Amino acid sequence: MKTFLRLTLALVAAASPVFAAATPAILAWKAGVASIDITPEGPVWMAGYGARKKPSEGVAQKLNAKALALEDAAGNRLVAVTLDLISVPRAIREGVESQVRERHGLRPESLLLNASHTHSGPSPYAWGVPDPAYVGKAEAYGRELEEKIVRVIGEALKQSAPAGLHYTRARAGFAMNRRLRVGTEIRNSPNPDGPVDHDVPVLRVNGADGKLKAILFGYACHNTVTGFYKINGDYAGYAQAYLEEARPGVVALFMMGAGGDQNPYPRYLSLEQAAQHGRTLANAVEAALSVVEQRPLHGPLRSALGYAELDYADIGRADLERRAQSKNVAEKTRAEELLKQLQQGPLPRSYPCPVQVVQFGADLTLVAIGGETTVDYSLRLKRELAGERPAIWVAGYSNDVFGYLGSRRVIVEGGYEGYSANLGRHPGPWTTSTEDRIISLVHELSRSINH
Ligand SMILES: [Zn+2]
Repeated sequence: MKTFLRLTLALVAAASPVFAAATPAILAWKAGVASIDITPEGPVWMAGYGARKKPSEGVAQKLNAKALALEDAAGNRLVAVTLDLISVPRAIREGVESQVRERHGLRPESLLLNASHTHSGPSPYAWGVPDPAYVGKAEAYGRELEEKIVRVIGEALKQSAPAGLHYTRARAGFAMNRRLRVGTEIRNSPNPDGPVDHDVPVLRVNGADGKLKAILFGYACHNTVTGFYKINGDYAGYAQAYLEEARPGVVALFMMGAGGDQNPYPRYLSLEQAAQHGRTLANAVEAALSVVEQRPLHGPLRSALGYAELDYADIGRADLERRAQSKNVAEKTRAEELLKQLQQGPLPRSYPCPVQVVQFGADLTLVAIGGETTVDYSLRLKRELAGERPAIWVAGYSNDVFGYLGSRRVIVEGGYEGYSANLGRHPGPWTTSTEDRIISLVHELSRSINH
């Protein structure tokens, strides 16, 4: 029976165009992977929750920056860097971009930086650090982080060796939409009827010996299980740790999806719960790796990077004066600053949101969007691009995490992700044209790299 089964599988594999076309081409890739510890030293101000009252108290889990460098047969490259961190600050992206261009000739469109958005890591900048004693420490951490990212990219490029790439996926169900309508209000509360994206996309990297070398995987959900004062990577940190423990020598990299309006549930804010959700996600990755027909990726590797100019709505004096009366301290403080700024000259009218498209031949399209990307972007892109490419992977939190990126629906509904969260940071909320600007740029970039 066993022999018959194996034989049947072999026949199925031989008959499948996916398998038949794959084997000779896949080793045309080169891949290198590296990891660097980015755990802060001593007590730091932690990012993510405005209500924190004191600095960190020890480390429950180390944080890492990891780089996966890929190169096709023609020498086209992509370096994906994943960070166990709240954000990719724009200044750090710019610093890294210019340094790796100078040192390694890596073009901006070939560099992808993604943050897991753990709420149990350090703040890499002064913004949101209320205690002046910790502002300098946050800025020093940011400078050191930039230098470490440049170093880990150099190491991954140096490690590059012949490799095979496959795409596979599974699903995990612990992410739930966190925008619940109660009367006219949108509350932060689990909404079982709200949109979700439960995909767990996986890029499997094998060495020339056929052995697993790296796993890049994604999920669309806030890393907000834990909320206390010990540094840790939240569920994504635990998922990576479980995968690496089970497969010594393999580097597992977590890429955050469009989880801007998704929370992990149940959410008891404990380390045990973070580990449990991490286990669930690691199991989904293992399930994806057990899929028989994984899609071999062929070149060419093509990438494009553009910036969608997002307009601010409501930035007149009257709006700012109204916001300066807000009970929300961040919103009030920012409105007061902006009123002062308005006396010197006009406020900025828009903000550039990075949008990156990476194609692995006709096999896989990876779209990486800036900001705290909400789930509608992922669902819409998977629908709209599905006709052109069989596999679509949408990452959020990429290249510049400047605040929330609501979809049209979320902006119209308002609430935290659609309105109030950005007011502590930006001159105003986004207009309802935001979603279409992003999506049209994705299509434009896809077309540009197909010609
Ligand atoms: Zn967030």
